[in-house]
Amino acid sequence: MGYFLKFNRQKKQKKKPMSKLYKSIFNVNGCSVVKQEQTDTTVTITVRLTKGNASRCGCCGRKGKLYDNGREQRVWRTLDLGTKMGFIRMDTYRVKCKKCGVKTVKVPWASHRSGFTDAFEQQVAWAVCSMSKKAVAKQLRIAWNTVGEIADRVWDRLDTRPIKAGCIFRRIGIDETSYKKGHKYITVVVDHDRRCVIWVHEGYGKEVLDLFMRELSEEQRKGVELVTCDGAKWIRSSIEEFLPNAERCVDSFHVVQWATEALDKVRVEAWKEARKENRNQKRGRGRPTKDSVPKDRTAEGIKNSRYALGKAPENLNESQQRKIELIASRYPRLYRAYQLKEELRIILKMGYDDARENLDRWLWRASHSRIGSVKDLYAKIKRNYDGILNTIRLGVSNARIEATNNKIKLLIRTAYGFRNMNNMLSLIMLSCSYVDVKIAYEWESESRESSSKAA
Ligand SMILES: [Zn+2]
Repeated sequence: MGYFLKFNRQKKQKKKPMSKLYKSIFNVNGCSVVKQEQTDTTVTITVRLTKGNASRCGCCGRKGKLYDNGREQRVWRTLDLGTKMGFIRMDTYRVKCKKCGVKTVKVPWASHRSGFTDAFEQQVAWAVCSMSKKAVAKQLRIAWNTVGEIADRVWDRLDTRPIKAGCIFRRIGIDETSYKKGHKYITVVVDHDRRCVIWVHEGYGKEVLDLFMRELSEEQRKGVELVTCDGAKWIRSSIEEFLPNAERCVDSFHVVQWATEALDKVRVEAWKEARKENRNQKRGRGRPTKDSVPKDRTAEGIKNSRYALGKAPENLNESQQRKIELIASRYPRLYRAYQLKEELRIILKMGYDDARENLDRWLWRASHSRIGSVKDLYAKIKRNYDGILNTIRLGVSNARIEATNNKIKLLIRTAYGFRNMNNMLSLIMLSCSYVDVKIAYEWESESRESSSKAA
């Protein structure tokens, strides 16, 4: 009896009251705090793994045998405590795993090979979805290029791939988006029903899209009912090869875009003509006299009319309306092209039967317009005739994917470019896809709940 009493008293004296507090502040489990120290800018705790966690493999987490006691000291950065940076320090050693071979021992607070705790990485991933990389680097006191690496690691951890899980995607949208001022492209696939990105890849073209198609199972391919896209041939041929039940829908956004581009070509031609005329007008030397003819300003009017021509007529302001009137009186060819663009825009908003009838009539008019760029537009629309009517009949739009493309461009711009392509794709998936990136405190409370459930 006496012996037990003595033993208990000794144990009580050994126990460090601060240890528990530090463990809860740093939110580490599976270890005991051996020492804590602080400087003006840092708080560091030194820990030792508890028996149950002492010999787990760093790669797969299975129990292995102790291999050596290498005594390499490692330090992990964790979330800040007030204004001080938090660090966890431990003497690591290696473990022999049956599956992976000799690996560094697993620690419960961080991923293999990472110098940051999971909570810290979660915080970085959440922040980089809404802030520039520079701001994240400054706020969390890490290097600029570490931010991208962390985003990549978090995406790897979160990736739950609905493609592999065999989800059926009924309605998808395919598009390519440019970055680096249009020098480089990425292909993006979105799911219209789940409203998220399901796949991104560097580059564009049939080979790239075929990679996505091959990732899908036979059942998934048959399940695709419609695909929205622009008129690109590579998308069409890939759909024909892989998706037997899919109807191709050419999005009205793109159709209007084609029309606007064709109209702009006509405008540039008209502007060049007007400028030529202006040059040919002879002007005397010196300051113009009072009764001399004022300089013709039509060329400038046309040059600056791009926005007026692109806008819907009901949204024009007064000066824009004057420009259109000027064009109507002086440049009938340009005005004709403008009218054709507007008619096309209205047709795309009609019901199926009306749209079909009016589109046929529009095609006839465009083919007889005797304007080169409008004839090109005619050919393009004729090629995509079924796709355009499918879109109207099924009432879908590619607005979702265009919005996503804008978000992606914004993301790349706010992140100020990427050196590593994988990091960029991971960031895109983190912020636009099916995963929900939790901020550190949400993530922590969630993992606490799941671990208590498991226990
Ligand atoms: Zn292992």
